[in-house]
Amino acid sequence: QPSLSRPEFAAGLPIVDGEAIATTERAIAVINPATGMALTEIPLLGAVEANRAVESNARAFGEWRAHSAAERAAILHAWFALVRENRNDLAMLLTAEQGKPLAEALGEIDYAASFIQWFAEEARRINGEIIPAQRDRRVLVLKQPVGLVGAITPWNFPAAMITRKVAPALAAGCTVTLKPAELTPLTAFALARLALEAGVPAGTFNVIAGDAPAIGSVLTSHPGVAKFTFTGSTTVGKLLTAQCATTLKRVSMELGGNAPLIVFDDADIDVAVAGTIASKFRNTGQTCVCANRILVQNGIHDRFAEALAARVAAFRVGNGLEGETDQGPLITAAALQKVREHVGDAVGRGARIVTGGEGHEAGELFHQPTVLTGANPDMRLALEETFGPVAPLFRFETEAEALTLANSTRSGLAAYAFTRDMDRFWRLAEGLEVGMVGVNNGIISSETMPFGGVKESGLGREGSRHGIDEFLELKAISLGLP
Ligand code: ADP
Repeated sequence: QPSLSRPEFAAGLPIVDGEAIATTERAIAVINPATGMALTEIPLLGAVEANRAVESNARAFGEWRAHSAAERAAILHAWFALVRENRNDLAMLLTAEQGKPLAEALGEIDYAASFIQWFAEEARRINGEIIPAQRDRRVLVLKQPVGLVGAITPWNFPAAMITRKVAPALAAGCTVTLKPAELTPLTAFALARLALEAGVPAGTFNVIAGDAPAIGSVLTSHPGVAKFTFTGSTTVGKLLTAQCATTLKRVSMELGGNAPLIVFDDADIDVAVAGTIASKFRNTGQTCVCANRILVQNGIHDRFAEALAARVAAFRVGNGLEGETDQGPLITAAALQKVREHVGDAVGRGARIVTGGEGHEAGELFHQPTVLTGANPDMRLALEETFGPVAPLFRFETEAEALTLANSTRSGLAAYAFTRDMDRFWRLAEGLEVGMVGVNNGIISSETMPFGGVKESGLGREGSRHGIDEFLELKAISLGLP
């Protein structure tokens, strides 16, 4: 158990209409994946509570949208300050329920807070337009909050995925009901509590969890909800998009990637290795922008494989709350099983293990950080996201071959390239079929970056000045002049 200076953060209480929901007969245990021990239980809420939450959003909306932009900004700045003040508690809670090393959890809390600060600033810049249309007419464009928002988030970033949606929604003047992942609800509940303390009015931001399909069905079909925003798997994202079709909600979808990372002969090998480590092994390989396929040109391949494997073999694997740890556990037994199957399938099809390849003695849900060579496009690890600490190396000869391989997937979230050739830089920047490209850089996420995918990786963008547009509608007014 993490020892928190505010133990109530770990109580596991959802918040609707400004009140914590303390009791229902049924509960879900929240498990620390590093130890297998239950941290606490949360109430198992469902459609009834989801409907209550949406109704409270509807009551709160009029008042929240009537706040001036400066007033909303001030409340968001206060929320930002409280998140920063409680940084250590939030990070410990996050590591306890999600497993990432504490240093990474502290980084995630700062990253999460950066969205609140950014959108507190953007709240004051929601400007309309005046278009000098005709001699006897002007067109005015108002930007107004889209209305009530439903949001569903995954377990791999229990803080950042929440603020990346909720902060722009609140900044725009919307009210929100959020369902975080049942695997990692505690950080979300704590963030909602801090939002209340910061002055976000009751009913403006509700957080509930429990029966995901039941809550999801209310958030995607309630006629009062205008906008639905989701981060998670492509399969569930498609299902929820279809559910939103009956009431034609605005949707934002941040779905899976299958990110290629391409290392060219002319790359700076130290930069390429460091970038690959950062991209592949962040959160033990459990992010949607993690490099999934590492394509390495012939001339640098062997040196790169050796240097990467040396770094990976030196990782400290263990409980993120204890000592210096680089790699934590996988989130669930199913996640570990998938990693094991991908490695087994690859080896069966001719891949060679350079380092790792097995479960890790640190605990039941741990896997050794692994580097494989001889990967090919028929292997499962090329066709799906492994979402674990496995770096498969594919060999290639020409740039054209690498680009074709990189684009040969229905996913299009992130891609990475390591090269010092400026002409090649432009060909890749324009030719890669993704929403985000990291060039000589393995960590692309920041509040300043429009984050999102093309193809089946999603719809819409989060973060940057574009992120708030997802929560605004344009209203055009044609004003006649006498
Ligand atoms: P992951 O592979 O990251 O667990 P999921 O797409 O399964 O991705 O989960 C992301 C979020 O979607 C979680 O909050 C989960 O509870 C929620 N979820 C999963 N299935 C459904 C569903 N049928 N309806 C609503 N929410 C769902």
